[in-house]
Amino acid sequence: MSNIQDKVVIITGASSGIGEATAKELAAKGAKLVLAARREDRLEKLQQDIQNTGGPVIYKVIDVTSYEQMEELAEMALKEFGKIDVLVNNAGVMPHSFLYKKKIDDWNKMIDVNIKGVLYGIAAVLPTMREQKSGHIINLSSVAGHVVGPGSTVYAGTKHAVRAISEGLRKEEAGNNIRSTIISPGAVQSELINLITDTDLKPGIDKLYEDVAIEANSISRAIAFAIEQPYDVAINEMIIRPTSQER
Ligand code: NDP
Repeated sequence: MSNIQDKVVIITGASSGIGEATAKELAAKGAKLVLAARREDRLEKLQQDIQNTGGPVIYKVIDVTSYEQMEELAEMALKEFGKIDVLVNNAGVMPHSFLYKKKIDDWNKMIDVNIKGVLYGIAAVLPTMREQKSGHIINLSSVAGHVVGPGSTVYAGTKHAVRAISEGLRKEEAGNNIRSTIISPGAVQSELINLITDTDLKPGIDKLYEDVAIEANSISRAIAFAIEQPYDVAINEMIIRPTSQER
Protein backbone atom coordinates (compact mmCIF):
# COMPACT_ATOMS: atom_id res chain seq x y z
CA MET A 1 0.00 0.00 0.00
CA SER A 2 1.28 3.50 -0.83
CA ASN A 3 2.42 5.55 2.14
CA ILE A 4 0.16 8.28 0.74
CA GLN A 5 -3.00 6.16 1.00
CA ASP A 6 -5.56 7.82 3.33
CA LYS A 7 -3.28 10.73 4.24
CA VAL A 8 -5.23 13.97 4.59
CA VAL A 9 -3.52 16.57 2.43
CA ILE A 10 -4.37 20.27 2.19
CA ILE A 11 -3.17 21.92 -1.04
CA THR A 12 -3.28 25.70 -1.49
CA GLY A 13 -3.21 27.10 -5.02
CA ALA A 14 -4.89 23.94 -6.27
CA SER A 15 -6.80 25.66 -9.07
CA SER A 16 -3.98 25.50 -11.64
CA GLY A 17 -0.41 24.49 -12.44
CA ILE A 18 1.62 22.66 -9.81
CA GLY A 19 -1.19 22.61 -7.22
CA GLU A 20 -3.64 21.04 -9.65
CA ALA A 21 -1.06 18.47 -10.81
CA THR A 22 -0.27 17.64 -7.17
CA ALA A 23 -3.95 17.09 -6.40
CA LYS A 24 -4.23 14.63 -9.29
CA GLU A 25 -0.99 12.85 -8.39
CA LEU A 26 -1.92 12.41 -4.73
CA ALA A 27 -5.53 11.44 -5.50
CA ALA A 28 -4.23 8.65 -7.72
CA LYS A 29 -2.16 7.45 -4.75
CA GLY A 30 -5.15 7.38 -2.39
CA ALA A 31 -4.86 10.68 -0.49
CA LYS A 32 -7.87 12.45 1.01
CA LEU A 33 -7.70 15.95 -0.39
CA VAL A 34 -8.66 19.40 0.80
CA LEU A 35 -8.17 21.85 -2.06
CA ALA A 36 -8.00 25.64 -1.80
CA ALA A 37 -7.71 28.68 -4.09
CA ARG A 38 -9.81 31.69 -5.08
CA ARG A 39 -11.31 30.47 -8.39
CA GLU A 40 -14.27 28.28 -7.47
CA ASP A 41 -15.05 27.12 -11.03
CA ARG A 42 -11.58 25.59 -11.32
CA LEU A 43 -11.78 23.91 -7.91
CA GLU A 44 -15.21 22.50 -8.66
CA LYS A 45 -14.06 21.06 -11.99
CA LEU A 46 -10.97 19.52 -10.38
CA GLN A 47 -13.10 18.03 -7.61
CA GLN A 48 -15.37 16.45 -10.22
CA ASP A 49 -12.42 15.07 -12.20
CA ILE A 50 -10.92 13.51 -9.08
CA GLN A 51 -14.26 12.17 -7.84
CA ASN A 52 -14.74 10.43 -11.19
CA THR A 53 -11.75 8.28 -10.30
CA GLY A 54 -13.05 7.72 -6.79
CA GLY A 55 -10.99 9.87 -4.41
CA PRO A 56 -12.44 11.71 -1.40
CA VAL A 57 -11.93 15.42 -2.11
CA ILE A 58 -13.39 18.62 -0.75
CA TYR A 59 -12.54 22.23 -1.53
CA LYS A 60 -12.84 25.68 -0.06
CA VAL A 61 -12.57 29.06 -1.73
CA ILE A 62 -10.05 31.03 0.27
CA ASP A 63 -7.53 33.81 -0.09
CA VAL A 64 -4.28 32.75 1.57
CA THR A 65 -3.58 36.34 2.56
CA SER A 66 -6.36 36.05 5.15
CA TYR A 67 -5.30 34.19 8.28
CA GLU A 68 -8.96 33.71 9.26
CA GLN A 69 -9.75 32.00 5.96
CA MET A 70 -6.68 29.78 6.25
CA GLU A 71 -7.79 28.74 9.72
CA GLU A 72 -11.28 27.96 8.42
CA LEU A 73 -9.69 25.75 5.78
CA ALA A 74 -7.77 23.76 8.41
CA GLU A 75 -10.94 23.49 10.53
CA MET A 76 -12.85 22.16 7.53
CA ALA A 77 -10.18 19.52 6.92
CA LEU A 78 -10.33 18.41 10.54
CA LYS A 79 -14.13 18.34 10.61
CA GLU A 80 -14.35 16.28 7.42
CA PHE A 81 -11.42 13.90 7.86
CA GLY A 82 -10.45 14.07 11.57
CA LYS A 83 -6.73 14.81 11.03
CA ILE A 84 -4.28 16.80 8.91
CA ASP A 85 -1.27 14.84 7.69
CA VAL A 86 0.19 17.19 5.09
CA LEU A 87 -0.04 20.84 4.10
CA VAL A 88 1.27 21.77 0.66
CA ASN A 89 1.81 25.53 0.89
CA ASN A 90 1.79 26.04 -2.86
CA ALA A 91 -0.17 29.23 -3.65
CA GLY A 92 2.16 31.86 -5.10
CA VAL A 93 2.44 34.79 -7.48
CA MET A 94 5.37 35.99 -9.61
CA PRO A 95 4.77 39.41 -11.22
CA HIS A 96 8.44 40.04 -12.00
CA SER A 97 9.56 43.63 -12.63
CA PHE A 98 12.61 45.86 -12.33
CA LEU A 99 12.78 47.75 -9.03
CA TYR A 100 12.96 51.17 -10.71
CA LYS A 101 9.49 50.57 -12.22
CA LYS A 102 8.15 50.85 -8.65
CA LYS A 103 5.36 48.30 -9.07
CA ILE A 104 4.63 48.58 -5.37
CA ASP A 105 1.26 46.81 -5.57
CA ASP A 106 2.97 43.79 -7.13
CA TRP A 107 5.65 43.79 -4.40
CA ASN A 108 2.95 43.83 -1.75
CA LYS A 109 1.06 41.02 -3.48
CA MET A 110 4.18 38.84 -3.56
CA ILE A 111 4.97 39.52 0.09
CA ASP A 112 1.35 38.86 1.12
CA VAL A 113 0.80 35.66 -0.88
CA ASN A 114 4.29 34.13 -0.98
CA ILE A 115 5.43 34.92 2.57
CA LYS A 116 2.40 35.70 4.73
CA GLY A 117 0.30 33.04 2.99
CA VAL A 118 2.93 30.40 3.79
CA LEU A 119 3.16 31.56 7.41
CA TYR A 120 -0.62 31.58 7.82
CA GLY A 121 -0.75 28.04 6.45
CA ILE A 122 1.84 26.90 8.96
CA ALA A 123 0.00 28.66 11.78
CA ALA A 124 -3.32 27.08 10.80
CA VAL A 125 -2.08 23.47 10.87
CA LEU A 126 0.74 23.45 13.41
CA PRO A 127 -1.33 23.12 16.61
CA THR A 128 -3.11 20.08 15.14
CA MET A 129 0.14 18.50 13.94
CA ARG A 130 1.80 19.06 17.34
CA GLU A 131 -1.17 17.46 19.05
CA GLN A 132 -1.09 14.52 16.63
CA LYS A 133 2.69 14.30 17.09
CA SER A 134 2.94 13.91 13.33
CA GLY A 135 2.65 16.02 10.22
CA HIS A 136 4.38 17.26 7.12
CA ILE A 137 4.56 20.81 5.77
CA ILE A 138 5.74 21.26 2.18
CA ASN A 139 6.58 24.79 1.11
CA LEU A 140 7.03 25.86 -2.50
CA SER A 141 10.10 28.01 -2.87
CA SER A 142 11.87 28.31 -6.23
CA VAL A 143 15.24 28.37 -7.96
CA ALA A 144 14.70 32.07 -7.16
CA GLY A 145 15.02 31.05 -3.52
CA HIS A 146 18.66 30.25 -4.33
CA VAL A 147 19.56 32.66 -7.15
CA VAL A 148 18.65 36.33 -7.64
CA GLY A 149 18.38 37.75 -11.17
CA PRO A 150 17.60 41.23 -12.51
CA GLY A 151 13.83 41.66 -12.46
CA SER A 152 13.22 38.82 -10.03
CA THR A 153 14.46 40.74 -6.96
CA VAL A 154 11.27 40.94 -4.90
CA TYR A 155 10.04 37.48 -5.92
CA ALA A 156 13.47 36.04 -5.06
CA GLY A 157 13.28 37.84 -1.71
CA THR A 158 9.97 36.12 -0.96
CA LYS A 159 11.26 32.72 -2.04
CA HIS A 160 14.46 33.12 0.03
CA ALA A 161 12.11 33.90 2.92
CA VAL A 162 10.18 30.68 2.28
CA ARG A 163 13.42 28.71 2.58
CA ALA A 164 14.40 30.50 5.79
CA ILE A 165 10.94 29.91 7.29
CA SER A 166 11.02 26.24 6.28
CA GLU A 167 14.44 25.71 7.84
CA GLY A 168 13.32 27.42 11.06
CA LEU A 169 10.19 25.26 11.08
CA ARG A 170 12.33 22.15 10.61
CA LYS A 171 14.54 23.02 13.57
CA GLU A 172 11.65 23.99 15.85
CA GLU A 173 9.48 20.97 15.11
CA ALA A 174 11.94 18.11 14.54
CA GLY A 175 11.30 16.88 18.10
CA ASN A 176 7.56 16.80 17.46
CA ASN A 177 7.81 14.41 14.53
CA ILE A 178 6.79 17.10 12.05
CA ARG A 179 8.59 16.97 8.71
CA SER A 180 9.30 19.98 6.54
CA THR A 181 10.17 20.01 2.86
CA ILE A 182 11.27 22.84 0.57
CA ILE A 183 10.49 22.33 -3.11
CA SER A 184 12.38 24.68 -5.44
CA PRO A 185 11.22 24.38 -9.06
CA GLY A 186 12.86 25.93 -12.11
CA ALA A 187 10.72 26.85 -15.12
CA VAL A 188 7.45 24.88 -15.05
CA GLN A 189 4.46 25.17 -17.40
CA SER A 190 1.64 26.87 -15.49
CA GLU A 191 -0.20 30.19 -15.32
CA LEU A 192 2.49 31.80 -13.16
CA ILE A 193 4.06 34.06 -15.81
CA ASN A 194 0.67 35.46 -16.92
CA LEU A 195 0.78 38.12 -14.18
CA ILE A 196 4.03 39.74 -15.41
CA THR A 197 3.26 43.23 -16.74
CA ASP A 198 6.82 44.60 -17.12
CA THR A 199 7.14 44.74 -20.90
CA ASP A 200 10.94 44.90 -20.72
CA LEU A 201 10.99 41.51 -19.03
CA LYS A 202 7.98 39.59 -20.32
CA PRO A 203 9.26 38.62 -23.81
CA GLY A 204 12.47 37.11 -22.39
CA ILE A 205 10.58 35.16 -19.75
CA ASP A 206 8.00 33.96 -22.30
CA LYS A 207 10.87 32.72 -24.48
CA LEU A 208 12.58 30.92 -21.58
CA TYR A 209 9.32 29.17 -20.65
CA GLU A 210 8.57 28.31 -24.29
CA ASP A 211 12.03 26.86 -24.73
CA VAL A 212 12.59 24.89 -21.54
CA ALA A 213 9.62 24.74 -19.15
CA ILE A 214 8.77 21.26 -17.92
CA GLU A 215 5.33 19.88 -17.08
CA ALA A 216 3.75 20.59 -13.70
CA ASN A 217 3.65 16.87 -12.95
CA SER A 218 7.47 16.92 -12.80
CA ILE A 219 7.01 18.79 -9.52
CA SER A 220 4.01 16.85 -8.24
CA ARG A 221 6.02 13.63 -8.56
CA ALA A 222 8.70 15.16 -6.32
CA ILE A 223 6.06 16.22 -3.79
CA ALA A 224 4.61 12.70 -3.76
CA PHE A 225 8.13 11.28 -3.27
CA ALA A 226 8.64 13.46 -0.19
CA ILE A 227 5.26 12.47 1.28
CA GLU A 228 5.65 8.75 0.68
CA GLN A 229 8.89 8.36 2.66
CA PRO A 230 8.66 6.45 5.94
CA TYR A 231 7.81 8.72 8.89
CA ASP A 232 11.43 8.81 10.13
CA VAL A 233 12.79 10.06 6.78
CA ALA A 234 12.41 13.75 5.92
CA ILE A 235 13.23 14.98 2.43
CA ASN A 236 14.12 18.52 3.49
CA GLU A 237 14.90 20.12 0.15
CA MET A 238 14.71 19.48 -3.58
CA ILE A 239 15.65 21.68 -6.57
CA ILE A 240 13.95 20.52 -9.76
CA ARG A 241 15.02 22.31 -12.95
CA PRO A 242 14.42 21.54 -16.59
CA THR A 243 17.58 19.72 -17.70
CA SER A 244 18.27 22.46 -20.22
CA GLN A 245 17.72 25.41 -17.83
CA GLU A 246 21.14 26.92 -17.28
CA ARG A 247 20.35 29.61 -14.67
P1 NDP B 1 -0.06 29.06 -11.13
O1 NDP B 1 -0.20 30.53 -11.39
O2 NDP B 1 -0.53 28.13 -12.18
O3 NDP B 1 -0.74 28.67 -9.75
C1 NDP B 1 -0.73 29.53 -8.64
C2 NDP B 1 -1.84 29.12 -7.72
O4 NDP B 1 -1.84 29.99 -6.57
C3 NDP B 1 -3.21 29.21 -8.35
O5 NDP B 1 -3.94 28.05 -8.03
C4 NDP B 1 -3.84 30.44 -7.71
O6 NDP B 1 -5.24 30.22 -7.58
C5 NDP B 1 -3.18 30.41 -6.33
N1 NDP B 1 -3.20 31.70 -5.66
C6 NDP B 1 -2.59 32.86 -6.06
N2 NDP B 1 -2.88 33.84 -5.20
C7 NDP B 1 -3.69 33.30 -4.25
C8 NDP B 1 -4.32 33.83 -3.10
N3 NDP B 1 -4.19 35.11 -2.74
N4 NDP B 1 -5.07 33.00 -2.34
C9 NDP B 1 -5.23 31.71 -2.69
N5 NDP B 1 -4.64 31.15 -3.77
C10 NDP B 1 -3.89 31.96 -4.54
O7 NDP B 1 1.49 28.85 -10.84
P2 NDP B 1 2.36 27.57 -10.40
O8 NDP B 1 1.53 26.36 -10.33
O9 NDP B 1 3.54 27.57 -11.24
O10 NDP B 1 2.81 28.03 -8.94
C11 NDP B 1 2.73 27.21 -7.79
C12 NDP B 1 3.90 27.54 -6.87
O11 NDP B 1 5.12 27.15 -7.48
C13 NDP B 1 4.05 29.03 -6.54
O12 NDP B 1 4.38 29.19 -5.19
C14 NDP B 1 5.21 29.45 -7.42
O13 NDP B 1 5.91 30.56 -6.90
C15 NDP B 1 6.06 28.18 -7.39
N6 NDP B 1 7.01 28.09 -8.50
C16 NDP B 1 6.59 27.97 -9.80
C17 NDP B 1 7.51 27.97 -10.83
C18 NDP B 1 7.11 27.90 -12.26
O14 NDP B 1 7.97 28.07 -13.14
N7 NDP B 1 5.85 27.64 -12.60
C19 NDP B 1 8.94 28.05 -10.56
C20 NDP B 1 9.28 28.13 -9.17
C21 NDP B 1 8.35 28.16 -8.19
P3 NDP B 1 -6.39 31.34 -7.68
O15 NDP B 1 -5.94 32.38 -8.66
O16 NDP B 1 -7.58 30.55 -8.12
O17 NDP B 1 -6.53 31.85 -6.29
